[in-house]
Amino acid sequence: MEKVILIRYGEIFLKGKNFGYFEKLLKENIEDKIKDFNCELVVINKRLYVRGYEDRAEKKILSALETVFGLTSISPAVMLETSVEAINDYVSTIKLKEKTFRVTLNRADKRFPMTSIEYSAKLGGIILKNNPKIKVDLHTPEVEVSVDIRENGSTFIFSSVIPAVGGMPIGSSGTGMLLLSGGIDSPVAGYMMAKRGMRISALHFHSYPYTSEAAKEKVITLAKLIKKYTGSFKLHICSFTKIQEEIHHKCNSEFMITIMRRIMYRIAERLSEQNKIQSIITGENLGQVASQTVESMTVTNDVVKNIPIFRPLISFDKEEITAISKKIDTYETSILPYEDCCTVFLPKHPVIKPKKFQCEKEESKLDIESLIAEALENIEVVEI
Ligand code: ATP
Ligand code: MG
Repeated sequence: MEKVILIRYGEIFLKGKNFGYFEKLLKENIEDKIKDFNCELVVINKRLYVRGYEDRAEKKILSALETVFGLTSISPAVMLETSVEAINDYVSTIKLKEKTFRVTLNRADKRFPMTSIEYSAKLGGIILKNNPKIKVDLHTPEVEVSVDIRENGSTFIFSSVIPAVGGMPIGSSGTGMLLLSGGIDSPVAGYMMAKRGMRISALHFHSYPYTSEAAKEKVITLAKLIKKYTGSFKLHICSFTKIQEEIHHKCNSEFMITIMRRIMYRIAERLSEQNKIQSIITGENLGQVASQTVESMTVTNDVVKNIPIFRPLISFDKEEITAISKKIDTYETSILPYEDCCTVFLPKHPVIKPKKFQCEKEESKLDIESLIAEALENIEVVEI
């Protein structure tokens, strides 16, 4: 008998021709998450389980598996060599706290000498004998004891099914450059795209010394927090100070934010091209602030020529975004009160419906190309 953790994955993407590819990615992603626990991932017949770990590592392995995109649920289980005796012996040690239970039997091994119905009744009897207060409830039991008799001579027994995060395996859906601020939204946006299988990199703009060193550290902390889900990535840190000063001195202040954002997006696209990244991701949300109107998004989209911009939070309510940020543990860091570069030189009356020709007129007052080139040259890369 051995303790193992059973792993279940979404069936939809594992059907059809791409099965091998998805399974390989999923396997690599799981192995990466559990590599520190001295255990082994076993793949047989489209089933996965982890074995060989020390008892005290079990909780940590379960928590690590809960963050792997593509998994639907996991179960701590025992694995035995299939025989009526061995299964009976183990089942007779099961102690249940719940008031009602049922036994669910899967008999894939047709050589097993009893039918599912016969044998589950027998096992139910054994559990009743050893747990005098419990009752059988076939329809809505508080706990289900599952006995899975597999084709290959092994039987798995488990009674808890822990939901995992779902989604698609990281690496299965291209790459994206996450515009990461220190706010609540952008870490959630990165998480959401990674959940669909996208491998992310990140780009942060700071305006040191207008923004503090602590503000930059906060973004690095946020990046490390989402790494738990996304896996390692590169965080690019780009100074925006000179660009903001130039806009502040030369352009109509109402256009400050719009021009800033158009330049941020241009830098994001260039950096993505340099790093062969296929899309830009932002935490923008329709109507949340002046720069998040359809008109504002139209003029910022306009400067990005070759790749899509994904805004996974576009239609979310703030409460929904906050709930996810709490779930993924970024909320407490996001609300620390450090300034973002977008709040430096903030105009009293930002334009809410900017027009392209107005933006172009303001930008003609700047040497945009050399500002962008200089910003790109001085990017600092932090391996997260
Ligand atoms: P967030 O909570 O993510 O900061 P927000 O609601 O404060 O978003 P804005 O400040 O308008 O909204 O920013 C919209 C999006 O622009 C952010 O979600 C992020 O993707 C990007 N962004 C804003 N500031 C920065 C920055 N300093 N560096 C990188 N990206 C940024
Ligand atoms: Mg912000």
